[in-house]
Amino acid sequence: MKCVVCRESAVIDVRRANSNFCSDHFLRFCQEQMSRAIREFDMLSPTDRVLVAVSGGKDSLAVWDLLQRSGYEADGLYVGLGIDGYSDTSGVYARAFAESRGLKLIEIDLPTDYGYDIPTGARAARRAPCSACGTSKRHLFDKAALEGSYDVLVTGHNLDDEAAVLFGNVLRWQTEYLARQMPVLQARVGFPKKVKPLIRLSERDTAAYCILQSIDYMVEECPMSAGNKHLGYKEALNSIELASPGTKSDFYSGFLRKASALFRAEYLEKSAAGRDSPSVEDLTYCERCSAPSTASLCAFCRLVDKAGGSARVGEGRIASGLEDNAAQSVRITTRAERLASSTTREVEAGQ
Ligand code: SF4
Ligand SMILES: [Zn+2]
Ligand SMILES: [Zn+2]
Repeated sequence: MKCVVCRESAVIDVRRANSNFCSDHFLRFCQEQMSRAIREFDMLSPTDRVLVAVSGGKDSLAVWDLLQRSGYEADGLYVGLGIDGYSDTSGVYARAFAESRGLKLIEIDLPTDYGYDIPTGARAARRAPCSACGTSKRHLFDKAALEGSYDVLVTGHNLDDEAAVLFGNVLRWQTEYLARQMPVLQARVGFPKKVKPLIRLSERDTAAYCILQSIDYMVEECPMSAGNKHLGYKEALNSIELASPGTKSDFYSGFLRKASALFRAEYLEKSAAGRDSPSVEDLTYCERCSAPSTASLCAFCRLVDKAGGSARVGEGRIASGLEDNAAQSVRITTRAERLASSTTREVEAGQ
């Protein structure tokens, strides 16, 4: 097996690209795929201050490494979830990576800073662990990015993740979600810009990237992931991909090129007519933490209350960013902003 670029011995085959690569050219391939996604979707500017949500797994460490090698000013954010046998170890990998490269890692620990962990919080709130986890992480990522005045929040979602979410949305024709499944979410009142630079790389690519760059990462899956329906969607797509390489990438990139704008247009139209948004009221703010909310308390603060924690610890600073926005007389009245309002309801529902 020879590298398609230099004809030296190849170390990996990328079947969807019908290519084999040596170590050097595979690393370059990864860098190029990320740069292409960033350019294509206008994800980042060279001067942006970037915050990377880091779990200690292969994807988040790979994207942090790739961004840093591409010259971006990128800090990391690690949220300790208090999951036994998982969170302690994943934190070790995140810290070791940051230290080895002299990078800044911001740490938030749910049990220490907010008085609950995901398993007990989910039980107390009678929610699935991944739902409680999603609500917690989204709130804390948004808060940290706004408070730190970062331009963009980066996550390590890869091609397999996005194709699995798309597959699930298509299976149930969840057109609202299809309208919003984009690799870039622009900043809105109370929310940072969010981007996914790894959409052109598979899980296998990011694992190989980490191995070739000597990045130690958490291999074990979160024990709470058992039964997560997206794992089933990934397995289904993997068996299709095995028989027909490139299908997964065509499925996702074809959606972005040919279909997503249609769903967005339809959704905006329905929103404007009020048919898809029974309560198209203006967005308000959580009376405790000032995060955007459609109720007096946001989804995160309600979760903390149910879990018996204390959201007041460390909260409140987010208000300063929102006050700045208020000073600019930002009002949520346009069609596009109503879409944002509806997105918030989705976030609050833990989806
Ligand atoms: S598997 Fe679920 S609980 Fe575990 S980190 Fe992921 S979202 Fe959180
Ligand atoms: Zn080569
Ligand atoms: Zn709140």
